[in-house]
Amino acid sequence: MTHDPYAHITAPAGTMLFEEGEPGDFAYLITSGRIEIFLGRGESRTVLAVRGPGEIFGEMAILDSDPRSASARALEDCVLVPVSEAQIRHRLSETDPVLRLCLGVVMARYRETVARLTGRAPAPSPARAPATSASPAARADFDAAIAAVVVERELRRALDRGEFELFFQPIVRLGPDTLAGFEALIRWRHPERGVVAPGVFIPVAEESGLVVEITAWVLSEVGRVLPEIMLAGLQNPRAAGEPMFLSVNISGHDLANASFPGMIGEMLRRTGIAPEHLKLEITESTLMRDPASAADALNLCRESGMGIAIDDFGTGYSSLSYLSTLPITTLKVDRAFVRAMLTEPRDRKIIQTILRLADEIGIPVVAEGIEESAEAEALARMGCAYGQGYHFGRPAPLAETLALIRAWNASQAPARSASAA
Ligand code: C2E
Ligand code: CA
Ligand code: CA
Repeated sequence: MTHDPYAHITAPAGTMLFEEGEPGDFAYLITSGRIEIFLGRGESRTVLAVRGPGEIFGEMAILDSDPRSASARALEDCVLVPVSEAQIRHRLSETDPVLRLCLGVVMARYRETVARLTGRAPAPSPARAPATSASPAARADFDAAIAAVVVERELRRALDRGEFELFFQPIVRLGPDTLAGFEALIRWRHPERGVVAPGVFIPVAEESGLVVEITAWVLSEVGRVLPEIMLAGLQNPRAAGEPMFLSVNISGHDLANASFPGMIGEMLRRTGIAPEHLKLEITESTLMRDPASAADALNLCRESGMGIAIDDFGTGYSSLSYLSTLPITTLKVDRAFVRAMLTEPRDRKIIQTILRLADEIGIPVVAEGIEESAEAEALARMGCAYGQGYHFGRPAPLAETLALIRAWNASQAPARSASAA
């Protein structure tokens, strides 16, 4: 059947929708009426299934790129919504590799079962061959599935064995260069691979949902170390001048987890830390994933007094709507703009514009990735309140962080010895 792919299809009773052996180009969602799926013709027809409203059919040939394994016709007058091969393929390519692999196996088994029951031999197809001898695409899928499963299992073991550690990077009030606080950055002390950066494992943790458990660990660790960090700050008036804060990176999965605000509240109560000393850092893409649940969780956290920072500002969707609807208290300008600021007038203008925007709505800006004193000075002149970057200090373990706080002297130019990230 040919049809307009942009419209619903009305198929009168008896219409052939597709025939066995044809290439599959569309699947169909049934909004009303019933269709039947069958093998053979005329008297020797074998009906495999009858499908009705709320169901989809014709998806198999698209999922595994094989010809139609059966025919379909309308049993009643039907209204169908076609879903094109491109629409399905796109969704499939965005899917988790393990799920994609499972889907391929289920499809192949289904076709084999049908072939056995009907006494037909299944046509050879890449989906049926073991992935190790299949097409490069199937092989890549298989490798990706293995990699995801292995890293995920290793991460779980790392949680059990206590292989994670928090590093801390100073955030500085520009001008006098006093210590305003720190950002907690996770590291994985892998038994064979040494220190693994979060860029390698946080994306896997996000995909598998394991990030929720990692955040729970980060928060319990923050509860353990934050009193010590704050005390060190209070003991050195030349460093901070006022109580410091700690920034923690959280993911969209955390915000979607209904117990998240309660979990943070419980950690703060247990440790006696005032919520004002904790800041949650979230990226723009995290906010876009599930804006409604993110808003609920962030409002609860903000109402209790915590700060909320937008991380990597300017690199994500930069939808300004969340600045008016969400309780944002800080913008962190991405390192990309800071890095190019001294050579590219355009990047400098972008920073200036972000500073003006933040000023208008009354929230401070942290410039990320400051590596040179010239950058720090230029940003201070532009009115940027806070800075963070290797110029002030690399992320460092707790002991070095405490030593840094004790030795910090805001009246001196930064002569911070930096530890390895
Ligand atoms: P981020 O939140 O944007 O963190 C800043 C990153 O920039 C850190 O990388 C930091 O080491 C690096 N950085 C800081 N100053 C400079 C500089 O002057 N120059 C350069 N080139 N880089 C600088 P890191 O620690 O590897 O973290 C990477 C990302 O991993 C973080 O980006 C954050 O998105 C994520 N992440 C880190 N810790 C956690 C965590 O505990 N939970 C979650 N969910 N994500 C985390
Ligand atoms: Ca961050
Ligand atoms: Ca950032």
